[in-house]
Amino acid sequence: KEYVEGYPREEHMELLPGGEVSLRLTGEEPAGSVLVRNLYLSCDPYMRPKMSRPLRESYTAAFVPGAAITGYGVARVLDSSDPRFSPGDLVWGITGWEDYSVVKPPATAFLAKISHAGEGVPLSYYTGILGMPGLTAYVGFHEICSPKKGETVFVSAASGAVGQLVGQFARLAGCYVVGSAGSAEKVELLKSKFGFHDAFNYKEEPDLCAALRRCFPEGIDIYFENVGGAMLDAVLLNMRVHGRIAVCGLISQYNLAEGEKDAVRNLAAVIAKRLRLQGFIEPDHKHLYPKYEEWVLPYIRDGTITYVEDVAEGLESAPKALIGLFHGRNVGKQLVRITDE
Ligand code: NDP
Repeated sequence: KEYVEGYPREEHMELLPGGEVSLRLTGEEPAGSVLVRNLYLSCDPYMRPKMSRPLRESYTAAFVPGAAITGYGVARVLDSSDPRFSPGDLVWGITGWEDYSVVKPPATAFLAKISHAGEGVPLSYYTGILGMPGLTAYVGFHEICSPKKGETVFVSAASGAVGQLVGQFARLAGCYVVGSAGSAEKVELLKSKFGFHDAFNYKEEPDLCAALRRCFPEGIDIYFENVGGAMLDAVLLNMRVHGRIAVCGLISQYNLAEGEKDAVRNLAAVIAKRLRLQGFIEPDHKHLYPKYEEWVLPYIRDGTITYVEDVAEGLESAPKALIGLFHGRNVGKQLVRITDE
């Protein structure tokens, strides 16, 4: 409804009553448009910066107050003037937080046909492990961090959509991996389900630096950064010489006003330890998706890699599900099921 300052609240969003919908394109849409029935919506932390008044340094455009929220989702094509799609196709990509959407160019460039649902692969996985968060984990870990067998890896927000995958990819690469998360339930999940060698609840640790020293007496080779703030400062002091930090996200900072954001105090460690600290965004790496999908599908099918989802039911539950990300209410990938049909 309006630009947001501080934490987003349900009142910032509004569910509007439905009207008449044509189940065919009318011909008035721009050429290349695709009419879809939305099935699943993805709730992602990057949607919070899009709720703020537009900033120059942002890599993604702000939402338009009063218009339907846009985001990643899974949908069924009802009609299409884009020759890549036919009625009945299942697609994932950028769509709208509404029952039906007309996806118009250039947003249609982000739509991709789904060809592997079923056969042990839930359709909803295209909001997570087989969608944007999956490619993010793969690119961030394998391309940005260049892991080697035997290295030590630390992941923050480790039980979430991206983190649970980074932990499993690290284990598969023969690394020693530790995660942090915000509840006892999540810490247990990290160790018992995702194969982290160790894990801790950062909210219960009086001294993050000491917690990391306990888990990594020899230091950290790779840090997969999801949160920023105090955790980044503690990690910098525990990195090993020639360590790598993939800066994927800084969720602890997203709801803070400009003057309130945490300063990074221990940046000198980057020089002393000759660290490589690299930010990245998933859209730059879309060309790697086919390689990633081919690599990960067999692991999903044979159960080597598991994926935990947190499913909210119905479009009306979407605002609450989205803002829950910023309070750690989600356990695993947060998504919304609108309908299965
Ligand atoms: P998650 O599924 O991990 O959900 C967010 C989690 O962040 C919460 O459950 C909570 O877990 C944790 N969190 C929330 N607030 C704080 C805080 N103040 N301090 C520490 N932890 C907090 O989200 P994703 O896996 O989808 O995203 C993880 C990160 O990756 C985000 O920073 C996101 O912006 C980034 N990202 C970046 C992409 C890119 O292209 N660069 C693409 C996709 C994601 P807990 O209970 O453990 O605190």
